Formats: sequence, C-alpha cells, structure tokens
Amino acid sequence: MYRGTWLHPWDFTGYTIERIAKIGFNHVSMAVRYFEERQDWPGPNIIFQNPGRRAYTAEENAVYWDADGNRYSHLPPYLRPERSREAKGDIVERFVNACEENSLKSVLWFPTLRWEKAVRDDIGVGMKDVYGSHPGYKRMFLCPSNPLVREALELMVEELSEKYDFDEFEFDFIRYPEVPSTHGTPLLSLALSPCFCKYCQERARDYGVDLEEVKRELKELVEWHVDYLSNTPYCTDEDYLQAVHSELARFLLEGDLVKKWIKFRAEVIADLLKDLSKIVRRNNPGAKVTADLYPPSGSWLLGQDYKTISKIVDGVKVMIYTKPFGKSVCRIPYESRLARKLLGKKLLVIGLASWPPMTPEDIEREFRLVLSSPADGVGFYSYGWTPDGNLLTIERLFREVGT
Ligand SMILES: [Zn+2]
Repeated sequence: MYRGTWLHPWDFTGYTIERIAKIGFNHVSMAVRYFEERQDWPGPNIIFQNPGRRAYTAEENAVYWDADGNRYSHLPPYLRPERSREAKGDIVERFVNACEENSLKSVLWFPTLRWEKAVRDDIGVGMKDVYGSHPGYKRMFLCPSNPLVREALELMVEELSEKYDFDEFEFDFIRYPEVPSTHGTPLLSLALSPCFCKYCQERARDYGVDLEEVKRELKELVEWHVDYLSNTPYCTDEDYLQAVHSELARFLLEGDLVKKWIKFRAEVIADLLKDLSKIVRRNNPGAKVTADLYPPSGSWLLGQDYKTISKIVDGVKVMIYTKPFGKSVCRIPYESRLARKLLGKKLLVIGLASWPPMTPEDIEREFRLVLSSPADGVGFYSYGWTPDGNLLTIERLFREVGT
C-alpha cells in the first residue's frame, strides 16, 4: 500500500526522514519550490513537527535546490527560479540522499502553475478572465499557453530530473485556479474562469473555438447574475444548492460552445503535463510520474480530465481534505469510487488532512474509509502540521494494516 506524506523543505532536518520512516510511511513528497503561504492555516498556525520554527509564513517565491542560473539567464527575472533566502543549501539533494539511506521513496513535489510573484510582476504571464483580469485572489496562476511560461517550466523540470536521482515526480497545481466565490452560483464561477489571454486565443482558434464568442456568452451569464444577486438574499438551503447545480447541468447540456471551451481547457492542461512528463521520463526513466488532482466531481471545471490524465501519468493523488475546510467525510468513498472508474488500473492515492481540527478519531475513521474504497493508498498532508497524537494514530494504523 502507498503510504505517503508531504513535507515542506523548511521542516526538513537531519532526523526528519528517519522519523517518517519509523512511523511507517514508504513515500515522502518534498516541495522543491513554493509560494507565500501561512503554515498550518486554516488551523492553529503552529508547525507541530518543527521545534526550531513553530510559526512560519513561507517566502513568496523560492526554490529549494541549487538552481544553475545560466540555464535561465535568457528568461525574464520573474520566471527564473530564485534560491530560498531562508532555508540554506541544496535541500533537495539532502532530501533525496536521506530517503535513500532510510529506504524511503523520494518524491519531488513540484507546484507547477501557481506562481503569484511572477503574475504580480507581469500580468502578461498570468491567466486572464473575460475582463482581462486575473481571477484568483492570493492564488495566482501562470498561463501554460504563454511560450515563456512553458519554457521556464520545461527548464526547471529538466534541471531537476537531470540532477537528482528521485523515485517519483509529482505535479501539483497543474490546472486552472478556483474562482474564490462565496455568494454566487456554480454557473457564475464558471463564467469568471480563465483563460482569455492572447496566447489562449490563438491556441483555441487552432482547436476550433472562437474565444471572443465564448467571452460574449460568459459575459451574458455575469450580467444575469448582476441582476439576480441585486435582488436576492444569500441562501444555503440544501434544496436551493441542488437547484443551482441542476441549472449548471442544464446550461451545459444546451451550451455546446461552452462545452467545447471546457474540453479545450482540459487539452491545454493535458498537453503541458504530457510535455513535462516526457522530460522527467527521458532523464530519469526509473522514476514514476504522478499528478495531484482535484476530486473528480469538480476537477473538470478546473481543466483536469481524469481519463486523459490517466493516459499520461503513472498515478494520481486525489486531495480530499474534509474537516479543515468544512467538507463532508462522505466525499471520501464517493470521490475515490468516481476516480477509480475514470482511472482504470492506474495508481490512486487518497490525500487526507492530518492537521487540526483533525483528531486521532477522525484520522482513524478516514483511514478506514480509504481502506474500504478502491484506492491503492493514502497520503497525509502534511508532516510538519501533524500533532504527535495524530502521528501515533497513523503509526498504529499502518502497523495494523502491514505492508
Ligand atoms: Zn492563457
């Protein structure tokens, strides 16, 4: 069984990997680059497994390997990998070696398109909505149709896969951003989704989609909501929420143009994943390639098509974080079965939250739900954020299940 955990590079010390191995994990994913993020939030803001740094806001844009500046010198500065100023040395190298010494599979965890700093420095490399603005607040994404973005990502994956002898390469944030909306409808979120940049316009034309037409249709949806939401109280009744989702389904049944646009977006993401996976496989043929995906019931709205992606990668990790985000535990059996249906026999790992408000009881309940689902394993997010009591529970459950 795949038993993974995610590790942030600032929580990596000499003893970390040995401890992770002792708990019974067999895979560790360490981020090789990262973005600004308050650690253990939403949560108590404490890094339980880092006695040297109990609280931390990650740097806005940093990589944790010894990046060779010459490879990137022709790119605009905001697209070059920038060495971390706070975590010293080549942490990726130390990590891969420590995993090897402790018989753990090393996974290079690569956040792919989320890159706020670059988008803020030059909006031209970011994704754009129907009004030409970036739709994400605090979560800004690069557009993979932009040739400069593409080249920067290819060069980084190239360097990492040439230099380090890892066991798995994991692509994260390889999708369109969520539209952060609290009082809208699923149809409004779709209407505010990207991307309408000039590079996507060209690519869509080749694909047979006129983005100007799509834009017109989506703007009509926005205008409808301007009128509707001006005259409506905010409502969370179950019956109402069912109705707004039924309307999304009805709209898409009739909306051939928007449907084709959604397919085009899935194509853009799959094409990038295919391109980057090829680089990994060429340089490190023994390594597995995986992707972190949204749960399948909603992933298609963010450009992730499970069937297409399953043909590209060796495995998929589906994040189903429940309590910290107020989501139902029923999502675990539901989403894992949907994913299995779409993935065929490909490796399926369920990503569970292990930080507060998750308790040992919650961990045990969710772990057993994964065991009774058609999944190949589990991953816990994240090592640093997990209190000792939860780690002990994970250790006990792993021992109970055996290998
Ligand atoms: Zn674009």
